[in-house]
Amino acid sequence: TKWVYSFGAGSAEGDASMRNLLGGKGANLAEMASLGLPVPPGFTITTEVCSAFYENDRNHPAGLAEEVSTALAKVGDAVGMKFGDTSKPLLVSVRSGARASMPGMMDTVLNLGLTDETVKGLAKLSGDERFAYDSYRRFIQMYSDVVLEVDHHSFEEQLETYKEEHDYFLDTEMTADDWKSVIDGYKKVVGDELGRPFPQDPEEQLWGAINAVFGSWRNDRADTYRRLHNIPESWGTAVNVQAMVFGNMGETSATGVAFTRDPSTGDNHYYGEFLINAQGEDVVAGIRTPQALTKRAREAMSDDAPSMEEAMPKAYAELAAVFDRLEKHYRDMQDIEFTIQNEKLWMLQTRNGKRTAKAALKIAVDLCEEGLLTQEEAVMRVDPHSLDQLLHPSLDPDAPRDQVLSGLPASPGAAVGEVVFNSDEAERLAQEGKAVILVRVETSPEDIHGMHAAKGIVTARGGMTSHAAVVARGMGRPCVCGAGDLKIDKSEEFFTVAGRQVKKGETVTIDGAAGRVYAGAVPTVQPELSGDFGKLMGWADAVRRMKVRANAETPHDARVARDFGAEGIGLCRTEHMFFETDRIIAVREMILAEDKKGREAALAKLLPMQRSDFEELFRVMSGLPVTIRLLDPPLHEFLPHSDDEIEEVAKSSGMDAQKLKDRAHKLHEFNPMLGHRGCRLGVSYPEIYEMQARAIMEAACAVAKETGEKVTPEIMIPLVAKREELTMLKARVDAVALAVLKENNTKLDYLVGTMIELPRAALTADEIAKDAEFFSFGTNDLTQTTFGLSRDDSAAFLPDYLRQGIFERDPFVTLDPDGVGALIKIAAEKGRATRPDIKLGICGEHGGDPDSIRFVEGAGLDYVSCSPYRTPIARLAAAQAKL
Ligand code: PEP
Ligand code: MG
Repeated sequence: TKWVYSFGAGSAEGDASMRNLLGGKGANLAEMASLGLPVPPGFTITTEVCSAFYENDRNHPAGLAEEVSTALAKVGDAVGMKFGDTSKPLLVSVRSGARASMPGMMDTVLNLGLTDETVKGLAKLSGDERFAYDSYRRFIQMYSDVVLEVDHHSFEEQLETYKEEHDYFLDTEMTADDWKSVIDGYKKVVGDELGRPFPQDPEEQLWGAINAVFGSWRNDRADTYRRLHNIPESWGTAVNVQAMVFGNMGETSATGVAFTRDPSTGDNHYYGEFLINAQGEDVVAGIRTPQALTKRAREAMSDDAPSMEEAMPKAYAELAAVFDRLEKHYRDMQDIEFTIQNEKLWMLQTRNGKRTAKAALKIAVDLCEEGLLTQEEAVMRVDPHSLDQLLHPSLDPDAPRDQVLSGLPASPGAAVGEVVFNSDEAERLAQEGKAVILVRVETSPEDIHGMHAAKGIVTARGGMTSHAAVVARGMGRPCVCGAGDLKIDKSEEFFTVAGRQVKKGETVTIDGAAGRVYAGAVPTVQPELSGDFGKLMGWADAVRRMKVRANAETPHDARVARDFGAEGIGLCRTEHMFFETDRIIAVREMILAEDKKGREAALAKLLPMQRSDFEELFRVMSGLPVTIRLLDPPLHEFLPHSDDEIEEVAKSSGMDAQKLKDRAHKLHEFNPMLGHRGCRLGVSYPEIYEMQARAIMEAACAVAKETGEKVTPEIMIPLVAKREELTMLKARVDAVALAVLKENNTKLDYLVGTMIELPRAALTADEIAKDAEFFSFGTNDLTQTTFGLSRDDSAAFLPDYLRQGIFERDPFVTLDPDGVGALIKIAAEKGRATRPDIKLGICGEHGGDPDSIRFVEGAGLDYVSCSPYRTPIARLAAAQAKL
């Protein structure tokens, strides 16, 4: 096996397609080197070494040491230096790089190879003693932190104290001798804490760093991140070792990060930040405030510090040319790290940039219109989940607001919650069901769980490319960062801004798109979708095979669904139409009636209500199919509990209150989800379903007459296990339907079908299809009954299953392809064998989940049905599943 892949100066052993083996960073460094872009030479140790490392009790595979040493010598030759040499010391960076970018892992060690001896060589070689010792102290600090695990605060304290004693404000005021003193202090910290000196052997340093990268693959933060993002542990990380170039060599050197387009809006402008006389970590850490990349951005922010375009025009022009080259090559927006060493540009990284949902949409549409992508490719570029962000509310522009704070607009969206100052507390309160806004000086990978738990994030420090900004954007959390006036009290009980105090637990509203924080809860409004959204959805609709319908029962929801492009209603849960007070009393009357007569009296009250509901629904859906499910209530949701509720029903029905109480008691079920619900209710009390069938058909006739449009009701009978249940109920429904049509002297097509939501129904679908004109898979119940896992109670222990890897995903969110999915396939096949034109759909929550939609496309169903706000997600996911 080949363990090490070299790259540099116009050639490379790897390329961008080898991401699994070389990690994202390594693969792209190789690709850039092959393109002839200025990449410092280096090599990548493969992800397979990481796997071997863990398989062999943290030992390296045979041959690795030789390959590393050969590759390292090659790097030295390319730059005319030698690793460990005291006069021409080669220095390297060591970085982790997995297939997917992973903020939880060890990131970077810079300036590796510096020792008390080699630093002298570097000083002589560069003619800049201050630079050499600045680099050395950075190395000790970084290496000690990430490899030796010495607490980094000790170093920061040392440096702060030194600067205070010498009346310095900025690091740039420190002289070579100052750094030497600080280095002595640093070395003492390491010696005191570890009981051994800071390693002075470059070889030992290198292997220490390599092992730390591999070790970090399984640290807690990386574990958490992998779990949140479904990244398998088996992937492993690669290690990139690369010749150092220096952005801290004085005023003609700099370092920066940039995006080829604005990652927040998607606008086609270069976007980035840089720092003169600094090394990469300074930008990300937010220690110094970076300067804008372009003149345009500087003017927009009315910043005084010159942009890179103005301060370093030559290097800027070179960089801009590289941007264009990379975008055309990768056909996507790139996120880039670069260094300028004495006016010469070096590329340290490129990758497809993380972006907001809004930017993803705009960039995909723009790249297509620029001719770089086909429409189908553009459709594939937008993550359907991310549309959630676009469909999220923003602040009501007319609502009064009281601004407390402003910062950078790091991630769009509005969020309301109570202020908390640490991540553990954010997580705890969120678990209690509270909405929280996490307020921090800055965030680090240790805050991932808190950021995930929070509705929004505010930080005092860091730019648009800081940890908080990048992570929040990825998670879709609104975020305001770099709010410089924000002072968090040490007690973590309150923060102040210009004399104003906001306490822990107080409610604030953040507007991530504007970078503002307001006191109290500001009302929000639904987003307006841009023309790009419509375009991309149109392209998706053009390739999609499956129809997308919505689960809706109110006219309002139905209208939202239509606006979002739903092509019908796939599930109208009629019991949801009964939750309003006047209606629930009539429903209770019906349920609690002692005999058929009592029930019929109650049903007579419900009939006109149902009829007018259905009329509204048919009107809104003007001609599109509407699937109406007959009553399927778990009874406990409807039984009266309090004496007041009993009294109401008694008054309305004329029944005795005590009798009602007894009857309610008798109806109590131990396992309501497996109890007297669904078609079982229809079997016991067919008059209920007859009333509903009448209401549906009368409404259909009325609306067809009124509008002249076709009305196609699809009447659906739930929770069928045996064909006989359906045979009996369908006969009743048909009889009523024919009677209504005759009464109205109207001709109208309607269908009667069933839900498949029990394993027995799936396994005998050929029989059931003899009576069913359509199947709709109720995957909520089908999941519940296939796993024997309660929909209502499993949340308590599912986390254990997820944590221990027994379940990879929550089966109530993402369809279980092997069990529940197998039943769907069987039922579809058997249903079609009996009735080749049988209509097949899915209406459980899975109908709005992209992975489940992919499965359902594979199973060849005709449509998915999901909640109204998810219809765009389903349209896009259905298109992607087809492509
Ligand atoms: C289902 O079971 O998947 C379904 C859609 O019905 P309900 O959620 O109403 O039980
Ligand atoms: Mg169900």
